[in-house]
Amino acid sequence: MENTLRNVIIIGSGPAGWTAAVYASRANLAPLLFSGIEPGGQLMTTTDVENFPGFPKGILGPELMQVFREQAARFGTEIIDSAVERVSLAGEEKTVWANGKEYKAKTVIIATGATAKRLGLDSEKALYGKGVSACATCDGFFFRDKDVIVVGGGDSAMEESLFLTRFAKSITIVHRRDAFRASKIMQDRVTAHPKIRVIWNTAVSEILGIETGHVTGARLKNIETGAETEMPIDGIFAAIGHEPNTALFREQLPLDAKGYIVTEGKTTATAIPGVFVAGDVADSRYRQAVTAAGTGCMAALDAERFLAAQE
Ligand code: NAP
Repeated sequence: MENTLRNVIIIGSGPAGWTAAVYASRANLAPLLFSGIEPGGQLMTTTDVENFPGFPKGILGPELMQVFREQAARFGTEIIDSAVERVSLAGEEKTVWANGKEYKAKTVIIATGATAKRLGLDSEKALYGKGVSACATCDGFFFRDKDVIVVGGGDSAMEESLFLTRFAKSITIVHRRDAFRASKIMQDRVTAHPKIRVIWNTAVSEILGIETGHVTGARLKNIETGAETEMPIDGIFAAIGHEPNTALFREQLPLDAKGYIVTEGKTTATAIPGVFVAGDVADSRYRQAVTAAGTGCMAALDAERFLAAQE
């Protein structure tokens, strides 16, 4: 089967990839989907998804991804649970390498998503899931009556901090500059909240607690003076943005200033004919499961029309 020239290869298995697969398979395009490095994507690390239409009682992130997968499989999507190692997108035949094998297709839909940025400290890695998190909505529940730090100054940091007020005793936002970049309304909510305080011009230089196996504190460094202090803390949330997963494509496709894949006009087409993109890898603005699913549908329709025009 590796030698067949397929109609569509889909890379990625978040809401964008699975929706593209549902549409492409129902259009009889017999798509092949690679589920990638993190099958299911970012929703695999969330708990309740309450804003995906059609689930009035909410659904767990991993369960939602399982039903997406079942729906795509039902219409004949071929699924390979591997990461793609390399791609060659130019020309009429696109090549994708995975598991040391070569797969060819007339079109490729890129739906590789984005990953939450980390602070990049060894102690962060060692204590990940033991008080260190990148997702308040996933893990906030575990910090009832605890003291936590949120790092960042964008809308995500504001949103995570406000969400954490439901559980935590106190939230300290640690921001590296003296001003937030978040929207005014979110800033106002944060500064007015009695549980939240802000430490400006400061970076987290170390997370403490490796010897006890869970976070016990943070070392904070004032960026202007270089002075370091230690603060006892139970949890630390990095809300410092996301990075689109473009490593496979960045030599071949144009990216915008933030590193996201550029699409042509209001379509999912990229600069290379036959290559389409869906979901967070091309979206720094909305980043929702439902918008990712919507663009997955668009990408499949764009691929279908592209193939029809070739015939
Ligand atoms: P963002 O706007 O890029 O903000 C990231 C923040 O983290 C910035 O304040 C940045 O500091 C800081 N930061 C980055 N790297 C850091 C590092 N290594 N160490 C310490 N701090 C670091 O990202 P975002 O907040 O995730 O938002 C992304 C987009 O989604 C935005 O367009 C936002 O408006 C949108 N969004 C909207 C909502 C909403 O409307 N409800 C919610 C979430 C996100 P600097 O300020 O110094 O650069």
